[in-house]
Amino acid sequence: MNTRVIGQFDVEAVRAAFPILRQEVNGHPLVYFDNAASMQKPEAVIEAVAGYYRRDHSNVHRGAHALANRATEALEGARERVAAFLGGVAREEVLWTRGTTESINLVANSWGRANLRPGDEIVLTAMEHHANIVPWQMVAEATGARILVLPVTEAGTLDLDALPALLGERTRLVAVAQVSNALGTVNPVADIIRLAHAAGALVLVDGAQAVNHFAVDVRALDADFYAFSGHKLFGPTGIGVLYGRRALLDAMPPWQGGGEMIERVSFAGTTYAEVPWRFEAGTPHIAGAIGLGAAIEWLQEQDREAAAAHERALLERLDAGLETIAGVRRIGTDPARAGIASFVVESGHPTDVGLLLDQQGVAVRAGHHCAMPLMERFGVPGTVRASLALYNTAAEVERFLQALDKAMGFLR
Ligand code: PMP
Repeated sequence: MNTRVIGQFDVEAVRAAFPILRQEVNGHPLVYFDNAASMQKPEAVIEAVAGYYRRDHSNVHRGAHALANRATEALEGARERVAAFLGGVAREEVLWTRGTTESINLVANSWGRANLRPGDEIVLTAMEHHANIVPWQMVAEATGARILVLPVTEAGTLDLDALPALLGERTRLVAVAQVSNALGTVNPVADIIRLAHAAGALVLVDGAQAVNHFAVDVRALDADFYAFSGHKLFGPTGIGVLYGRRALLDAMPPWQGGGEMIERVSFAGTTYAEVPWRFEAGTPHIAGAIGLGAAIEWLQEQDREAAAAHERALLERLDAGLETIAGVRRIGTDPARAGIASFVVESGHPTDVGLLLDQQGVAVRAGHHCAMPLMERFGVPGTVRASLALYNTAAEVERFLQALDKAMGFLR
């Protein structure tokens, strides 16, 4: 495969850190363009997880022995790394969860049930992932709150002109993705947060698709809650993060009860631990947190601006290539998208395209991408989604375009 260095970014050196990319699928070198669903893991992450299990594993906190102390230090050290990664928030503001989905469910169930009253309003957008819709529907049903939806334009951007009319004195929360997982649109969350705060509402940002593409400073954004998943950031599955503003977390009741989250338990009544542990019932995913810490460390060693420029160049070529293939219609055409190209073909179902690409060693995702309301907005059952990471190459983009062209030959 051609090596290609765009600017100062040496993509082959980055690729070399990802053993999984060195394989053939169906007789072809793997082209992994399913990064929005889950990113691959660099050797440093695999080693951190394996090394932890080889040397240091024990349950955490209250340990009276060396391994328990090492495991605790590694877990809490990873928390500090996440706190720094999010722009220097306090470690107490970083909660471990299973992923973005659980982070949002935590806010909906803890903050939502404690604060939402009948007639209160939650503003979502039409491009949210189901993880940022369904928990709010559930809590709205339980509390009598209402959900309002900010529409999406034909280009796949948020219709910001419609936002002021949705924000009113009953608005309690705005929940919005920073980057759309289905289209790659980058939403102006700082502007949305400013408007929401002016209306007296809190803002939860779903950062699942953002943190891997560009640096995020939650304090500069002024976000109240920020959620992301380890596995979409080169880390393990089953670990995620919820950032919450300290004053909000302090005032929130626990969600799940059990070990680790208590101060004192008796049958007369139980008192709860301080944040963050109050929201971390049960044995945490220690190895996952350590792996996520290693993923962040690895990412921070990369030139992130050069990586972003590299991804941008790949996406531009991908967009231009898709425009030249007859029968392909792009969905989500904002030029400033992050790493994702979504499209439909006139002559076939997205799944057919996905299967034909897989036969040629190209992995993409086909379907509704857990964004059914967005698919409905565009009148399509689903899309084919090619999603990039910093380890993808220009040669892979060409391979993808050739494979798609060939697939279209079968479908026409
Ligand atoms: N939000 C967005 C924008 C996503 O892309 C995803 C994952 N596809 C999620 C939420 C849910 O993340 P997870 O499945 O890791 O909890």
